[in-house]
Amino acid sequence: MNTQTLSMKSISIIGLGPMGQAMAQAYLEKGYNLTLWNRTASKAAKLREAGASLAQDLGEALTASKLVIISLTDYDIMFNLLENYTTFFKGRTLVNLSSDTPEMARKAAEWAASHGASFLTGGVMVPPPMVATAESYVFYSGNLAVLEQYRTILEVIGRTDYKGEDPGLALLFYQAMLDIMFTTVTGVMHATALVGTVNVSAQSFEPYVLDFFNFMKVLMQGMGAEVDHKKYNGELNNMNMMAAGMRHVAHASHDAGVNTTVPNLIAKIYEETVAKGHGKHGINSIIEVLKESSK
Ligand code: NDP
Repeated sequence: MNTQTLSMKSISIIGLGPMGQAMAQAYLEKGYNLTLWNRTASKAAKLREAGASLAQDLGEALTASKLVIISLTDYDIMFNLLENYTTFFKGRTLVNLSSDTPEMARKAAEWAASHGASFLTGGVMVPPPMVATAESYVFYSGNLAVLEQYRTILEVIGRTDYKGEDPGLALLFYQAMLDIMFTTVTGVMHATALVGTVNVSAQSFEPYVLDFFNFMKVLMQGMGAEVDHKKYNGELNNMNMMAAGMRHVAHASHDAGVNTTVPNLIAKIYEETVAKGHGKHGINSIIEVLKESSK
């Protein structure tokens, strides 16, 4: 099919994990012509019933649409899958919404350009059930003109939050947000394990966890100004007290017989913050340790 004759209503999606399926469903509901490809073809069954086409190979998927959305576990899978299909790249825009490092995104953008394709990096910031809802948003980076060309279409998935020309930026923001998610969930599960040692069920602990997030909102309010100005207010709670508190968490975990890896690590960071002279400063001063290279 000639590139000129392809409609802006045609989209190809490569990858039908939970995220790819959610995006495909959203586009079908908006009346787009969808061409799908997935290693496990059976995952396209319901979407085909709803009107999508299943490409027999990746060449067919790349031929069917100018806009090709990629949703795979990581970038290496994309490189492996598409390396024999680069002759189909000319005039295509690849939008990779898979997780990986900023470096991989930069490499992918160069690789795509060397074969005549435009490339946008994206990071979807909601789970599959929230795709295409008012809360959904996606970080993007790469050529702004390319994003503008497809912005209306990409907004079906969620708000397009453009972070800049450097293709790595979307994944830098994405990984930063996952950093918050993974460390937070680890803390919650560690605490759940700790109370579990005295037979407290996770279900009865859950309301305390949910309440805690209200407190976190208050605790984190104003952190931006503190970090930007390197002024960490410790009037109400300072690092000397916090480091002692964190040691108590580590000791209590040890005594209770649960894993101490995380509390020991955090206690170490807090002690290093105090050792750097922040004993009377507030908790956000730990960034002075965290922003140092670990190399
Ligand atoms: P999955 O990891 O379940 O999706 C995997 C997709 O990659 C499937 O299409 C799978 O094919 C394909 N795949 C994996 N390994 C290979 C391989 N070796 N060769 C060919 N295809 C392969 O993830 P999701 O759909 O959940 O997520 C897709 C991306 O979206 C990920 O990068 C994820 O980080 C990101 N994301 C996910 C969110 C979520 O909550 N799920 C939230 C935000 C972003 P097959 O079906 O054949 O296994």
